[in-house]
Amino acid sequence: MFELFKIGFLSFTFLDLIDVVIVTLIFYKLYEIIKGTVASQIFLGLVIVLLLSFLAQAANFRALGWLLKLVSDIWVIAFIVLFQPEIRRLLVLLGRNPLARLLRKQDTKDIAQILTETAFELSQVQHGALIVIIRSAGLRGVVETGEEINAKINKNLIRTIFFPRTPLHDGAMIIKGDQIQAVRCTLPLSATNTYNDYPLGMRHRAGLGITEQADVVSLIVSEETGSISIADNGKLIRGLSKSSLKEYLEKNLLVSESKGVKGIFEYFSKNAK
Ligand code: ATP
Ligand code: MG
Repeated sequence: MFELFKIGFLSFTFLDLIDVVIVTLIFYKLYEIIKGTVASQIFLGLVIVLLLSFLAQAANFRALGWLLKLVSDIWVIAFIVLFQPEIRRLLVLLGRNPLARLLRKQDTKDIAQILTETAFELSQVQHGALIVIIRSAGLRGVVETGEEINAKINKNLIRTIFFPRTPLHDGAMIIKGDQIQAVRCTLPLSATNTYNDYPLGMRHRAGLGITEQADVVSLIVSEETGSISIADNGKLIRGLSKSSLKEYLEKNLLVSESKGVKGIFEYFSKNAK
């Protein structure tokens, strides 16, 4: 059908052309996404093994083909292990459920107001803080690393908790609905360690890291500079003003702006840079 040309007994059809173009595009896009990461070298290695195994099969080298097929059969497992963080993040994006949200609109406004005031008061006295606000699903594993307190959100309570030289100030606070669910929690660190060429400390990397793995917003007050940052969806915004922080929280505590297919598209275009 629609034969384009023939090499010996092999005929090359229009469908074959489309097939080859699609596979090439997929591999090219994948390579673009992971270019510059450790995974890219491994990915390249795997592509070479796949190519060799394809050639060996075509040329009927049975033993070599068998050996290479053995290697390429574990490809899927290797892929999942190597790209675990990326796959995990994609699944989080896919699983975002605007119906499972924890807050009502009015609550969001109140909470945004309280958190904004708290953050700026903490910043004035340069007390460091790390607050994670859950948008949809819970953070069981993270909560277990800290201490559950389940108290209603309250400005002075949060300020007191982050007062240095007290037992609960270290680590992250988790907010679920209108409750402070837990404090002193340990978060996964992001692999990103600079922001506009400035080194990122542990507090900022932890705040960013959790947004790469769960549907949450992190609010970070720097102890060093008093600056206020937001991390959301794997992105960090530093040096927010009072009004921009409040606006951001009001808009984004309810539902993530980037979700579903749009979020995945953003994820890929961000990573392809
Ligand atoms: P700052 O601007 O406030 O100094 P930073 O980003 O430079 O913040 P560090 O100075 O390294 O970060 O802050 C250390 C604090 O960050 C620790 O005292 C701890 O409370 C918190 N922190 C560090 N790692 C984690 C983690 N994995 N999970 C939660 N909190 C963490
Ligand atoms: Mg620091």
